[in-house]
Amino acid sequence: MELAPAGTVFSGMPKGNADLLIVHAAELIRCSGARDGIRRSDLERLELIADGALAIGSGRILAVGSTEELLRAYTAPRIIHASGRLVSPSFVDPHSHLVFGGSRHLDYEAKVTQRRPGRALAGGIGFTARATSTTSDDELIRRALADLDAMLVHGTTTLEAKTGYGVSVEEELRLLRLTAGLRHTVDVVPTFLALHVLPEDYAGRRDRWIQEITDALPEAAGLARYCDVSCDPVCFTFDECLRVGEAARSLGMKIRVHADQTGDANGAALAARLAASAADHLDYANPPGLRALATSGTVATLLPGVALHLCELTPGIRDDQLVAAEKPFLPMLVRQAIAAGAVVALSTDYNPGSCPTVSMQVVMQLAARLFRLGYAEIWNMCTLNAARALDLADDRGSLEVGKRADVLVWTVPEHGMVINRFGSNLVDTVIAGGQVVVEAGRIARGEPTRGTAK
Ligand SMILES: [Zn+2]
Repeated sequence: MELAPAGTVFSGMPKGNADLLIVHAAELIRCSGARDGIRRSDLERLELIADGALAIGSGRILAVGSTEELLRAYTAPRIIHASGRLVSPSFVDPHSHLVFGGSRHLDYEAKVTQRRPGRALAGGIGFTARATSTTSDDELIRRALADLDAMLVHGTTTLEAKTGYGVSVEEELRLLRLTAGLRHTVDVVPTFLALHVLPEDYAGRRDRWIQEITDALPEAAGLARYCDVSCDPVCFTFDECLRVGEAARSLGMKIRVHADQTGDANGAALAARLAASAADHLDYANPPGLRALATSGTVATLLPGVALHLCELTPGIRDDQLVAAEKPFLPMLVRQAIAAGAVVALSTDYNPGSCPTVSMQVVMQLAARLFRLGYAEIWNMCTLNAARALDLADDRGSLEVGKRADVLVWTVPEHGMVINRFGSNLVDTVIAGGQVVVEAGRIARGEPTRGTAK
């Protein structure tokens, strides 16, 4: 159902009842577009409604239009006056490693100063995996819920969360159970990251790990919506990922792929071959792979926070010795993905090593500077296209009639200011599923945001 053209709707009709009205928005952006994702030059379009308004009922969007139209058509027990403020869809963040122990801040200093960590400080994913294995369930849950609170006040209401820090199959399944058991206002979509990096105890025994993790897939399929595999020169090969991905698909799991982050492993082509929902990173993806993603409808999820954190601002300055090949110029690669017709999304990749930010606002700001993307492109990539990366574009990601009422009211009046004004949280109000859950930048009093099924 679409809203009728302005001026012809609602006149002479009795008023409808809404639960909540937002009126007099300085600018309301819908981020609407094709349900299979916004592509190519359509990314540069952003429908703006001046003096915009939104009606919400039963957790869904009832109407979007001008304030005059909606006040004529609806009454509601609560009205939010958004004069001088931007109103937008909330963020969908489609790639995170939410549940982990320890911190990698010492690792980061060693990286930026180009001093390698000493043995006692040995960093990397292995460090996080060991720290996670010695952290209790309760502590991992406490930390994850605190991170979800922080994401919520920064405007994220849907988050993909993957495992991947298990030192063993049992540990991977523990992390998956904890992730799937999280209960929070932020809707958490669990992913079993079957192939991340080879656990240290399995050095020289790759086939053993792949067999054990494959054997765990039936249990994982009961807990996770997705299975993820890392197709990368320092992780797993095309054939290894294909084997695990096909096993997961045969169990009804949908697929995500960490693809070509540190070199070209043909990960984009693998994601297309598996009809994956998303292929993420893609820093070294080859042009045929990007075209294959466009054909398969696999969302290309780009992670500018990782580019910043790994010192990959320009080619040739990366100090990570894992990478031998010259780094592609990322703004050009992003343009190649868009020109190929791929659905491009953005995400934090929240994790302790390569991107410890919870904020999609930071991601937007970095995407503009590091990837040279325009404001409309960035908004579309963080909303509807991000929802498409989680197969949720029919339900959320834009302000359209019938969708989940996941809405942000900002402290600034225009969408470009969110991207230009870096470094502080500009979200004032968060509405999730029709409920006001953040007010004046803080979690609303009495709002039961958190818990666990454990
Ligand atoms: Zn990741």
